[in-house]
Amino acid sequence: VPHGITSMLDIPIRLYGRVVGILCHEHTGLRREWAPEEQEFAASISDMISLALEASERNRAEESLKNTLSLLTATLESTADGILAVDVEGKVASFNKKFLELWRIPEEFTRSRDDNLLLNFVVDQLVDQQGFLSKVKYLYANPEKESYDILEFKDGRVFERYSQPQRVGGNIVGRVWSFRDITARRSAEEKYRNLFEESKDVVFISTPEGRFQDINAAGIELFGYSSKGELLNIDIATDLYFNPMDREQYQKELAEKGFVKDYELTLKRKNGERLAVLETATPVWDERGKVIAFRGIIHDVTGQKRAQEALQLQRSYFQQLFENSPAGIVVLDTEDKIMTANRAFHEIFQHSIDEVRGRKINDLVVPPYLKEEGTELSKLPQNRSVVQRQTKRMRKDGSLVDVGITGYPIVIDDELVGIYGIYVDITEQKKLEVQLRQAHKLESIGTLAGGIAHDFNNILAMILGHVSLIERYREKPEKLAHSTKTISAAVERGTGLVRQLLTFARKTETLMESVRVNEVIEELIKLLRETFPRTIDLAAKLDPQIPSIIGDPNQIHQVLLNLSVNARDAMPMGGTLTFDTRLIRGEDLKKRFLDAHEEKYLAINVSDTGLGMDEATRSRIFEPFFTTKELGKGTGLGLAVVYGVIGAHRGHIDVESTPQAGTTFHVYLPIPSGIADVSQVKKIEFAGVRGGTETLLVVEDEDVLRDLVKEVLAEKGYTVIEARDGKEALDIYFSRSGEIALVISDMGLPKISGYDLFLEMRSRNQAVKMVLASGYLEPDLRSEILKSGVKDFIQKPYTPSILLKSVRDVLDVSDH
Ligand code: ADP
Ligand code: MG
Repeated sequence: VPHGITSMLDIPIRLYGRVVGILCHEHTGLRREWAPEEQEFAASISDMISLALEASERNRAEESLKNTLSLLTATLESTADGILAVDVEGKVASFNKKFLELWRIPEEFTRSRDDNLLLNFVVDQLVDQQGFLSKVKYLYANPEKESYDILEFKDGRVFERYSQPQRVGGNIVGRVWSFRDITARRSAEEKYRNLFEESKDVVFISTPEGRFQDINAAGIELFGYSSKGELLNIDIATDLYFNPMDREQYQKELAEKGFVKDYELTLKRKNGERLAVLETATPVWDERGKVIAFRGIIHDVTGQKRAQEALQLQRSYFQQLFENSPAGIVVLDTEDKIMTANRAFHEIFQHSIDEVRGRKINDLVVPPYLKEEGTELSKLPQNRSVVQRQTKRMRKDGSLVDVGITGYPIVIDDELVGIYGIYVDITEQKKLEVQLRQAHKLESIGTLAGGIAHDFNNILAMILGHVSLIERYREKPEKLAHSTKTISAAVERGTGLVRQLLTFARKTETLMESVRVNEVIEELIKLLRETFPRTIDLAAKLDPQIPSIIGDPNQIHQVLLNLSVNARDAMPMGGTLTFDTRLIRGEDLKKRFLDAHEEKYLAINVSDTGLGMDEATRSRIFEPFFTTKELGKGTGLGLAVVYGVIGAHRGHIDVESTPQAGTTFHVYLPIPSGIADVSQVKKIEFAGVRGGTETLLVVEDEDVLRDLVKEVLAEKGYTVIEARDGKEALDIYFSRSGEIALVISDMGLPKISGYDLFLEMRSRNQAVKMVLASGYLEPDLRSEILKSGVKDFIQKPYTPSILLKSVRDVLDVSDH
């Protein structure tokens, strides 16, 4: 029988309870079990035959047999099979209704009983008509043969056909044909077969001995065999398992649990390649509980596994990158809370990763005074851009660190899910920046020094010239005055030059005192008249009503000088430089400068009729080192200094300029409210300064200067002892300390500095009085010196009046 199993049902036929025969019922096909109704039907036939036998035995009465036969007929009618009985000649003997129904036999046949008509009608419906006819012919020729067949209909139906000889008392009396419609069963079977064959997963049945009984195409392909036959021959444990020992474990689990589900196995292909699979299987038991087969599905996950490994690898790359990045990285959720942070973050901020998880980044690293700036990354969700900023952040211990911050939104599927915050410690960079700036400054001071040397030479030439004139004028005192005036003007200019240098270097303290700006301007104009080319006209429109401001007169002078020099440079062919001053209300200024909070401001306008500037230049003029002038001419520091000075005075500056039409700088300086006008600082007149009779020790290594000082002091009545250096000064002081009321010393002395000299003297005499003079002192050192007990400090070069006033003031302070 083609693919199948034949099931037999044997039922005894009894006569008066004794078994006289066996009714054999056979069923062929893929089905393995008998349906209960079929069993019942077979049993009822055997019962009937028994009854019939009994009846005929008992009375052989025809009647009884007839009854029995009619019962038999009734039973036949109730079966699902179509049955047709023919005699030995092949003439139709009987059939049941089901037969007519299955073959769709028309009514007329039941009436006409025309055998040929029936046969034609039947054959007509079949696909293989010739095959059927020759089988019929063969069976009629061989009445003892049985036959089974599947009939395919043109309309798609499928019948199972069974034909067997009919015997009575050992003689063949005819033949019974039975037909069953198996169309539905067939299509179900086919469907399953298709499912089985077309499954992408491997579907198999295997034996407990470890061979495949059946396996689908997917299996042949996955395991790399050329045919199903080849695959059915392999030994699963050794040919299919990558490691044959795994098979034991697998079978153990299957036996214990009764199934395996997604069991991970490593198998191999015919060529030895490794396969990662998941297997799901169940055993098949026989009725005695013995495992006769395994059924299962194998799912190939090799690719998946490889992809997973690749992903894992990639993840570990990124993890390592994250962990080892020299920049501190935090991952924030959309509420600014830290999800994770890397090692560099810990190194910058000292917080351990566990401490920071779940905390808001701003609470953690933004220093309290920057809270306003605050919400450093949480602003991101609104605009989803990248933020970059350089600022200060706070470490765990509260100390500050310079950082560059970059924020990136983390967007997944178009939705913002968090933020990367990247922090770079820029302390070193900042330090370098400062150094670089300092270096630039030095460089430009170098450039400047060239110009200053030139100016100084002029000044010295002037002084020298007039000094020689003085020699000659000894006899004409009326001419002397002119020379001394010129000399002192020249010295004044030299002093101004040095101040400018110091301001460039930003090493002067800002003195805050009352300043009359109009006077500063008038003085400046005087200076400019002497030094600027004659082609430049100078004009001033100064409001006489303006009050004094609080500031550093030297620095303000410097500002105006720098603006003037720029104006001069802008007017190479000449022009007019105008200064004007006026009072304006803070309210009006506020429109331009939001932080102009004072009530009143002094406006100083410096305008020229020069070349002007274009927009590109104008936007950069306050930058340090920005210059449009040729190398050696410009330093780019002029306006940077102006800007810095004005800022230090809480003032404002802006500029109006039109190319070829001139430039006006507006400087606004706040006028202090409610402070009395203290502008009139008395000019100290030499003649008006008191002298004295005390003995003074003058320490100065410069002979000319020492002589000058001695002369000035002696003229006012003092007794002067001179020393050329610190060593000599100490010797004199220690031998004659009783006499000496005050020591006047230069700061920069050979051997011992002025300050060290003071300390030495003080160690001997707590009450020593000293006035120190120096060209320049670091503001810090200066305050230290004054704190340590040096009575006064005078800036070199000083006028005789300043020296005399300082000496008198110090001497007059009573000691306690
Ligand atoms: P420097 O004078 O050394 O170039 P500053 O800082 O004083 O440096 O000025 C910067 C630049 O600003 C100048 O090089 C010049 O281009 C421009 N500038 C300043 N003042 C004027 C002005 N009054 N007229 C035209 N340009 C000016
Ligand atoms: Mg300049």
